Amino acid sequence: MAEASGLRVLVTGGTTGIGGALSRRLAAAGARVAATYHGGADAAAALERETGGAVVTRPADLTAPGEPAATVAWAAEALGGLDAVVNNAGGMVDRVPFAAIDDAFLDSVFDLNVRQAIKVTQAALPHLEASPQASILFVSSISARTGGSPGSSVYSAAKAFLSTLTRSLAKELGPRGIRVNAISPGTIDTAFHQRHSTPEKLEATRAGIPLGRLGTPDDCAGPALALLAPALGGYVTGQVVEVNGGQLLA
Ligand code: NAD
Repeated sequence: MAEASGLRVLVTGGTTGIGGALSRRLAAAGARVAATYHGGADAAAALERETGGAVVTRPADLTAPGEPAATVAWAAEALGGLDAVVNNAGGMVDRVPFAAIDDAFLDSVFDLNVRQAIKVTQAALPHLEASPQASILFVSSISARTGGSPGSSVYSAAKAFLSTLTRSLAKELGPRGIRVNAISPGTIDTAFHQRHSTPEKLEATRAGIPLGRLGTPDDCAGPALALLAPALGGYVTGQVVEVNGGQLLA
């Protein structure tokens, strides 16, 4: 039997980059996936076709009031319940020197990386409690431990928030039958770096990675699948799994 046979999973930001690779990997492992996207309707439609309907999609700006709850309601309806939630949607928004950060920027980074993930997770709890194989997966970042690079302080700290939340919720929700884990990607070659880096910086980063290459979205999908699928990761909770080619050790 496939590792994730019948698993019903909501993946936020699940049509591109790391989330898109995970949605495909889950579908290939027998799961049914509800994936949100924010822009990129063509890619979403292509993913639905490519997976033969194992992945269904919905546009959602999860920072908009009410959208996290509406998204969870849609996913539970589309899949007939929920076994897992992957809080993948996120981003740096912009590089801003610490001294220049204002309330609007602080809100935008916090809303995108933290507040909506909390709201999605809260809305999903009743569905997860009804599942015998429930889990939550956050997507943190290597920057949660390294502090990131100049201009990414609030984003990096927001990711550290998610890593800590992973451990807190594992304790609180474990007795309710819900496992909680995170993956912490290193430098993964996605649109994220087209927005926030340069080819020169990426090459300098690559040169320092023991495995000699940047990560790919597929590199993240396997470890994420292992944490989500009860048959593989059913006794793993409260862990932040580093997926970084050796970029940061211990
Ligand atoms: P990406 O830009 O392809 O993915 C970001 C996702 O977030 C997209 O699917 C996008 O639609 C979604 N999103 C953005 N704003 C949104 C909004 N307002 N409402 C709902 N969804 C929204 O890049 P990615 O690298 O695949 O990033 C996926 C996750 O991985 C993010 O949380 C990112 O912070 C994290 N991450 C990426 C790297 C990397 O090196 N690429 C490293 C560490 C962590």
